This record gives sequence, structure tokens and C-alpha cells, in this order.
Amino acid sequence: MVSGGDLVVGGVPVSRLARRVGSTPFFAYDRDLLTQRVAQLRVALPDDLEISYAVKANPMPALVQHLSGLVDSLDVASGAEMRLALDTALPADKVSFAGPGKSVAELTQAVAAGVVVEVESPLEADRITAAGEELGIRPVVALRLNPDFEVKGSGMRMGGGAQQFGVDVEEAPRLLKEMEARGLDLRGFHVFAGSQNLHADILVEAQRRTVDLVLRMSDEVATQPTYVNLGGGFGIPYYDRDRPLDLRTVGDALEELVRTRLRPRLPDARVLLELGRYVVGEAGFYVTRIVDRKDSRGTTFLVVDGGMHHQLAASGNFGQVIRRNYPIAVANRMDAEPAETVQVVGCLCTPLDLLGDRVELPRAEVGDLVVLFQAGAYGHTASPTAFLSHPAPLEVLV
Ligand SMILES: *Cc1c(COP(=O)(O)O)cnc(C)c1O
Repeated sequence: MVSGGDLVVGGVPVSRLARRVGSTPFFAYDRDLLTQRVAQLRVALPDDLEISYAVKANPMPALVQHLSGLVDSLDVASGAEMRLALDTALPADKVSFAGPGKSVAELTQAVAAGVVVEVESPLEADRITAAGEELGIRPVVALRLNPDFEVKGSGMRMGGGAQQFGVDVEEAPRLLKEMEARGLDLRGFHVFAGSQNLHADILVEAQRRTVDLVLRMSDEVATQPTYVNLGGGFGIPYYDRDRPLDLRTVGDALEELVRTRLRPRLPDARVLLELGRYVVGEAGFYVTRIVDRKDSRGTTFLVVDGGMHHQLAASGNFGQVIRRNYPIAVANRMDAEPAETVQVVGCLCTPLDLLGDRVELPRAEVGDLVVLFQAGAYGHTASPTAFLSHPAPLEVLV
């Protein structure tokens, strides 16, 4: 939305928001966009599917609190994220804890809290067992499976082949029996095979194979699984040619899959999708201010007060193979026509700090605000904030 030439975030024109925040650069997250996104998911996905928010996409406490009232559960990947999740009103068993290399201290905290610990290795199972014995508590666990298939088209692949994530399917039956024999409260399974996927057909196929895999593994355990975490990996468009995910197609296919294949076998299981980027990515705006405008041998550079130390992904250095521009605009001149082609660079003393390469923008001056869109996920906390020792960015939920 635009008002008087200003981009509007959370109902506030961005120039005014910048005054309210007090300084640039900052991240602003639009509360209504978050609410709308979860509502869209509710419409598209089957009613008996739980939506879990993957906190690592954006762990800002106010945002996590807001989302905790909208989603069914939270997925965390560190002890600190777990504490954040436990600060919300959600019960502990609506928190799942995934990730390789959980420390003994983190595992002990997780067992004490009663969250669902997603077991990533045999050694982790040993440590969880020991923590349970020490605490006199029956640990609540699920086994994370490294599937025997790969999901193509993902920005990051996290399943199939050799992986640090989960336990290979071939090894799973033995470990499952062992975990049961030790009296762990084994609830079910977790599969997360990849991230940032925009292809509905590939996601649907991955979900079909995931359900098949979970049903196969369900034959290996004595008690009926009550927890089936199907992962997610829903992507958002970042680049010109990206098409948004066809959520309806994914939702319809999932509805059929759950109804015809999963429910007949596991009628009462909690079935979850865990989504990070898809929930928060498009609700975030990284707002910077132009501090210099200079020409060098025919090229115009707009130098802003932010950069890759806050929004690494927009510089193309967060796992991208080819650098392409994230959507960018002059936030206080939204109604002006493009007038020039410029380089938008951050304030770090490195050529890597490029935020917009040959972008067409309205003529912009020092003091104008430059916004990077799609900044709600893997922004602040996925960036090297200590690099060049500038202050950390502010974050507001509007
Ligand atoms: C990172 C992660 C997610 C979230 O991935 P998105 O691409 O942000 O949706 C979900 N589950 C697990 C286990 C993860 O590691």
C-alpha cells in the first residue's frame, strides 16, 4: 500500500515510521500481513493439519508472540529459541526442537520442559535417555528421518543422500526399537527435506513420498504414532521471474493425501506442516536511508546506511549461486516513475555489499529511504551483524 508517495507498513507511512523508530536502518514487520498469511494457509490447507511456525526464520520476540496466537505450534532449533517458544502461551508439547548438534544442556532443558525433541542421531537418543533418567522424566521424542528421496527445486536441500540432518531411513527401524525399549515417549516422525521451493508439483510429490515413508516407519513401532511432522519448504518469490507458490494446488493435494492415505492408518495423529519463510518473509521490510549519492565514471551509486551485515541474503551472499536483485524501492517516492539506473550499495567497505545491481529507480537524493522487500525471514539473525562493527539494526512489529 502507498500513501502520499510513501510505502505504508503496518498502517504507517514509512517516513513517519522512520521518525517513530528514531533511526535507520531498521526492520519493520507488518502484523496484519502476518495475520493474513496464516489465514490464507488456514483456508488452503486441510482443517486437521497443524501449522507450526519455524522460529529460526525470524525469532523477534514480539513477532513470535503474535504468531503463537495464530499458529498451532512452534518449531525451534536452539535452546534460546526454545525459551522464546516457552514464553508464549502454547503448551510445551506444542513445541518441537529440531537440529543437529543439540548440546547436552539443551537436550536436558528440552526434556525438562517436555517439548517434542526431534532426534537427529543415535548419540542424541543416548543423551536424551540419560537426561530423562537423571530428571526422572519420560522424554517426549520423535525421530527425524533422512528420507531415501530428494526434493528437487529447493533453495536449500536438507534431506536425501548423505545428511547431517536426521537418521537415514535404512537405520531408523533399529533405532526406533531401541528408543522404545528404553521407554522414551516416542510420538512419531519428522521429515524436512528442503527449503524455499516454489514448485507446487514438486512439493506435492515430496509430501506424498513423505507420507508413504512415515506410514512405512509406523509399521516399525509398537505404538501408533501420534505426531507426524511433514516439514514444509514453501518458498516465496524474491526475483523478477519467480512465480508465487500455488498454495491452493498444494493445499488440495495435501487434503486428498491426508484423507485417503494418512488418516485411514493414523486417524488421531497430529499432522503438522512447519513453515518459516512462507509465514514471515513477505511481511518484513528492511528500511535504510541514503547517506551519499556519487558518480563514478558514468555509474551512479546510492550509498545507504544499511547493508549486508543486516540483510545478507539481499546482497546475494546467503547461499545463492547467482546474484540477483531482491525487490527494492525508494520508499518515500513510490509514486515517482523510474528515472535512472543505479547501483545501490551498503555502507560496508567491501564490494560484496551490493543491494541493488543496475536497478531502475526514481531519482533519489540523500535522506531518501530505500526499502528492501521480502525481508521478514532470514534477515537480521541470518546476517553477519558484527562484520565492520556497525550497530545492530532495530526491529519493530507494526
Ligand atoms: C529451517 C527449518 C524450517 C523452516 O524452513 P523455511 O524454509 O523457512 O520454511 C522448518 N523446519 C526445519 C527442521 C528447519 O530446519
